[in-house]
Amino acid sequence: MDMKTTVQQTADHLFQNYRRAPVAFSHGKGARLYGLDGKEYLDFIAGIATSSLGHAHPALVQAITEQASRYLHVSNLYYIPEQTKAAMLLTERAGSAGLGRAFFCNSGAEANEAAIKLARKWAKATKGQGPFEIIVTHNSFHGRTLATVAATGNPHYQEGFEPLPAGFKFVPYNDLAAAEAAITPPSVCAILMEPAQGEGGVIPATKEYLQGLAALCKKHNLLLILDEVQSGIGRTGTLFAYEQYGIQPDVVTLAKGLGGGVPVGAVLARDSVAAHLVPGTHGTTFGGNPLATAATAAVLETIQKEGILDNVKARGEQLVAGLRRLHDKHGVVEEIRALGLWSGVDLTIDAGPLVEACMNRGLLINAVRPRTLRIAPPLVTTAADVDAALHVLDDAITSVKAAAAPA
Ligand code: PLP
Repeated sequence: MDMKTTVQQTADHLFQNYRRAPVAFSHGKGARLYGLDGKEYLDFIAGIATSSLGHAHPALVQAITEQASRYLHVSNLYYIPEQTKAAMLLTERAGSAGLGRAFFCNSGAEANEAAIKLARKWAKATKGQGPFEIIVTHNSFHGRTLATVAATGNPHYQEGFEPLPAGFKFVPYNDLAAAEAAITPPSVCAILMEPAQGEGGVIPATKEYLQGLAALCKKHNLLLILDEVQSGIGRTGTLFAYEQYGIQPDVVTLAKGLGGGVPVGAVLARDSVAAHLVPGTHGTTFGGNPLATAATAAVLETIQKEGILDNVKARGEQLVAGLRRLHDKHGVVEEIRALGLWSGVDLTIDAGPLVEACMNRGLLINAVRPRTLRIAPPLVTTAADVDAALHVLDDAITSVKAAAAPA
């Protein structure tokens, strides 16, 4: 199907709930995507921090192909060796923080939904009848289901969907005193937060804040639930962002990069917490199905085998150094926040025209806020890819500035 037909038929037949850029692709390789228009693109958004191994990584292609040729799905009525293997790989890495068990689902929202249900069950069993509240932060994003929208600290995602599920208490991010003041036993049972707010503009928690939250949770017997849907699976240079904070969460949620593009989410939890989801309390037909978890295992093994975390650190430093040069050169680049291969770049101008100018020049990035760019390339991005992307960005900024300058 050509581009024109695709655009027309999309307009005619799909819900119009997405704002799409006028481009579609035929295939990809590494950090490159090839458009139906015949153009080559550098994919520096990676399906919103999701295509962790880039496009058509041989190990992922082989794992999916091999799995598809045997069986795709059987449901959790039966044992699923691929799911067990993926759980072992995840909990081996997260085990030092005591996260010994995994539950698989299909998306980030579902992972958070499960974590919220888990927190309530745990609290009812260990603290009393409730009802219980979970402390969440302003400017957060936890998903689009009703409970995760209710937990999201941005009214834009909530408007029109009321009544929202109750039980969430909002506090400002990176404000330890506010979190402490919100802990009002016996009603509060957990704190749910992102170690770095992705949709909020790539805003990392400070060490003092996250360590302080962990200490508060210990002191008041609350669960610390970290939403690592966007920050997890190597994005920040460690498999989990929390590893850089020297803390031990009780529950971690994952999705996005976990399947390298195959839809899969997961909740990791301490044994004593996971124990509260007994048979019949929670589940999903597709969750942890053989295809999704074969992909998960391939992603985790490849990250390990190919030293991808070292690449994230090196390419991340290269990208930030280049962004700093653009900051020095162009007045419009205000602030750069970066963790591994994940950057938020605040601008003094609207981000939309710059994203478009980049796309026209073959670079895909997105505007996470009206004046903030998000750059999140695949974790396998090469040094040459980063140089090429910086070159395009430099050129695009120059052209957008020139267009905006008074005649
Ligand atoms: N949590 C965080 C931190 C996210 O960034 C996202 C998606 O952007 C979600 C949850 C929701 O994930 P999904 O879109 O897979 O439901």
